[in-house]
Amino acid sequence: MKPASFTYVRAVTLDEVLRKLQQWGEEAKVLAGGQSLMPLLNMRLAQPRYIIDVNGLPEMTGVDWSPETQTLTVGALTRHRELLQHPLIEAHAPLLSEAARYVGHLAIRSRGTLGGSVAHADPAAELPLVLTALGGTLIIQSVEGEHSLPIGDFFLGYYMTTLRPDELITAVKIPGLASNSGYAIAEFSRRQGDFALASAAAVVTVDERGTITTAQCAAGGVAPNAITCPTVNESLRGARNPEDFSQAAHQLENFIDPPDDVQASGDYRRHLAVEMMTQAIGLAYARAIGTKEAWA
Ligand SMILES: Cc1cc2nc3c(=O)[nH]c(=O)nc-3n(C[C@H](O)[C@H](O)[C@H](O)COP(=O)(O)OP(=O)(O)OC[C@H]3O[C@@H](n4cnc5c(N)ncnc54)[C@H](O)[C@@H]3O)c2cc1C
Repeated sequence: MKPASFTYVRAVTLDEVLRKLQQWGEEAKVLAGGQSLMPLLNMRLAQPRYIIDVNGLPEMTGVDWSPETQTLTVGALTRHRELLQHPLIEAHAPLLSEAARYVGHLAIRSRGTLGGSVAHADPAAELPLVLTALGGTLIIQSVEGEHSLPIGDFFLGYYMTTLRPDELITAVKIPGLASNSGYAIAEFSRRQGDFALASAAAVVTVDERGTITTAQCAAGGVAPNAITCPTVNESLRGARNPEDFSQAAHQLENFIDPPDDVQASGDYRRHLAVEMMTQAIGLAYARAIGTKEAWA
């Protein structure tokens, strides 16, 4: 199918985008990488009157590390491919680089953007998953100004977020990983490049004896959005061996209730989620204590 007709506007300044979003409201859609928006337009699931192309806006590009605040700032237009290769991301948020490997195929990774993936809010998307585990914060702008929003407060349900029609995500901020931390993502999909049936991400910090002191785990594909897993995190405090990790991952079973769908039954997704969580915790722990081999 072909999209319904629309007016295409290639924006030159951030101010212009924000004014147009305010003026056109729900009649406008921002075009970033187009990897989710174009299929929606072609299937006529979205029929905006205006498409505002934000590609090339300098305010939404670039990656920056602040040694003072130990925070990484990643422009919303950063392509998945850049996430894979950028030295600052590899150094301070390697989980983001690792997650980008799982997103679609080369062509999709060459166009798709970090901000677009977050705004699209697919329940199985890898980038929102790892940003949830990393404690990322979104920088959101409108003509009224700029505000920060923790990613955990952004998602409202399947493909739904708190973003207003006049708002734009311009960047994502990620706290740098402590040196005694480890991270990992694990996912199960039917074919390489497919969205995951279930996925998990873990960030753990250990003390000098190799005991986990803090954990931030997130699960994907098993709820309307990526979710944090407080009971798993709690159960990992004081853990230091594979039995503990498996026990902690099983806390997920009571915490999620994925529905049956054409891809998989809810029970199967629940089973996969526990397996993926066990793997992610094991690898995150192995990295935190500095071994090369995953424990799981
Ligand atoms: C075949 C195929 C396979 C894929 N596989 C995967 C996969 O395995 N994992 C995965 O996570 N994704 C996958 N994707 C989706 C891909 O990652 C998209 O790039 C991503 O979901 C959207 O990013 P985008 O930059 O292309 O956004 P766009 O398609 O341009 O926009 C998506 C939505 O977000 C809005 N938007 C975009 N940027 C902003 C912004 N800065 N502020 C506010 N709103 C914004 C748009 O208006 C639109 O509503 C796949 C896509 C395809 C076509």
